[in-house]
Amino acid sequence: MKIALIAHDEKKPEMARFAAAYREILRGHQLFATGHTGQVVADATQLPVTRFNSGPLGGDQEIGALIAQNKMDLIIFLRDPLTAQPHEPDVNALIRLADVYSIPLATNIGTAEILIRGLNAGFLDFRKIVNGNESCHEKYE
Ligand code: PGA
Repeated sequence: MKIALIAHDEKKPEMARFAAAYREILRGHQLFATGHTGQVVADATQLPVTRFNSGPLGGDQEIGALIAQNKMDLIIFLRDPLTAQPHEPDVNALIRLADVYSIPLATNIGTAEILIRGLNAGFLDFRKIVNGNESCHEKYE
């Protein structure tokens, strides 16, 4: 599965703890992240992480583009709800695309725990069916 990891600055320590705690699950998957979050996750896990631009510089949009291409299976996006973000429109756009394509997305650590454990339990296996059926996106063309 392709997993996107994003954390706003105030949430990066939480993301580091999350990634380290679930390293053994994450290591079986392909990890993607916005720039600084990717460094945090790589440092915490020593796992390979494909890093995009930093969020404010377009990283959220890059991940959103992959969602629109059916190339992302799970999003863990630890948002900071108490700090104004200069790239709020990009954040909203990413979340909207996850809803458009029914991609499981966590925006806080409570849901992130459920999704990562669900991933490990096979609850996201429906994504393999979706991935094996590229025509599922044709209806949007
Ligand atoms: P960052 O971007 O991982 O580069 O800090 C995350 C964000 O703020 O959306």
